[in-house]
Amino acid sequence: MISTEELLGAVKGTVLLGEPMKNHTTLNVGGPADFFIDPLDREDFLRAVSFFRRHHLPCTVIGSGSNLLVHDEGVRGAVIVTARALGEFSLNRNVLTAGAGVPLPAAAAKTFARSLGGLEMLQGVPGTIGGALVMNAGAYGQEIGEAVSWVEVLVNGKPAILAREEITFGYRRSSLAESVILRAGLKLEKLSPAARAERETVRNEVLRKRAASQPLSLPSAGSVFRNPESGGPGAGQMIDACGLKGYRAGGAVFSPVHANIVVNEGGACAADVLELITTARNRVSETFGVVLEPEVKLLGFEDVFC
Ligand SMILES: Cc1cc2nc3c(=O)[nH]c(=O)nc-3n(C[C@H](O)[C@H](O)[C@H](O)COP(=O)(O)OP(=O)(O)OC[C@H]3O[C@@H](n4cnc5c(N)ncnc54)[C@H](O)[C@@H]3O)c2cc1C
Repeated sequence: MISTEELLGAVKGTVLLGEPMKNHTTLNVGGPADFFIDPLDREDFLRAVSFFRRHHLPCTVIGSGSNLLVHDEGVRGAVIVTARALGEFSLNRNVLTAGAGVPLPAAAAKTFARSLGGLEMLQGVPGTIGGALVMNAGAYGQEIGEAVSWVEVLVNGKPAILAREEITFGYRRSSLAESVILRAGLKLEKLSPAARAERETVRNEVLRKRAASQPLSLPSAGSVFRNPESGGPGAGQMIDACGLKGYRAGGAVFSPVHANIVVNEGGACAADVLELITTARNRVSETFGVVLEPEVKLLGFEDVFC
């Protein structure tokens, strides 16, 4: 056990006890975190992580919660957010150094405005640089992993640089999943005015398509399932073919706009979302013989899909 006084002495930023995680996920679902920490700066972030490690308490670092399904019973130990503490953003020629808490859409927009290519198609992907690196976030043929030159992580509690060769990126996954990410160096492509204009047209078209094909006005966590890597129909197509578009459990619904996105139409809880996930997995498995794997990260659950 730790005392609140001891914790407040160690961490300078915001410390909330029993903070509902539905306030920190884009799906607006999730029960209380025992300790919710928003550190003041990088040093405070490092102190907070080390405090919980020293006390052998679980410690989960999250970004914007845009790819998270948090259990209704919440999360034991600490949840630490990065936006305030790890917001470093600096450009040196075509190399961007970005803290894990920097919003990906802002990084994409700012670098493209400086005629640097490599992140522009990711402008519509919510979340932070840290979450994007863990998920190898991608859209319309661009993935963040392609731009990575190095990543700073905690190794035995100390900041250490991983070179690109030490990291693997795959489809919506990376070897950084078990690390605490502090910042990254991204090598971008210097674009000529003509190349930039061409990409701008594509980027604008991509943003338009996203707005037309995704239920952006309702809370969601983006795609619920990964598309099968073996090819064939995508997860959304299979869910749709099983008649589950618009299927509901409580306040959670497989969006009528995009069958692979669960939206919270109001008052959904994690159990509702889990019910939809389980139903779709079973139906798709029976119909197509394909076992869908969740793309959303489950937090506070115990090995639900093992
Ligand atoms: C409307 C909508 C559209 C979306 N479209 C796309 C899309 O087109 N392409 C796509 O790839 N994704 C998409 N997503 C999913 C989501 O935006 C991405 O997965 C995003 O990269 C998650 O970033 P985050 O900061 O919100 O991470 P979180 O959801 O907060 O966390 C995701 C995982 O990363 C871990 N994590 C986060 N930061 C750190 C850190 N600093 N150190 C260690 N671990 C960390 C968390 O513990 C968790 O396991 C969409 C989501 C929404 C809501």
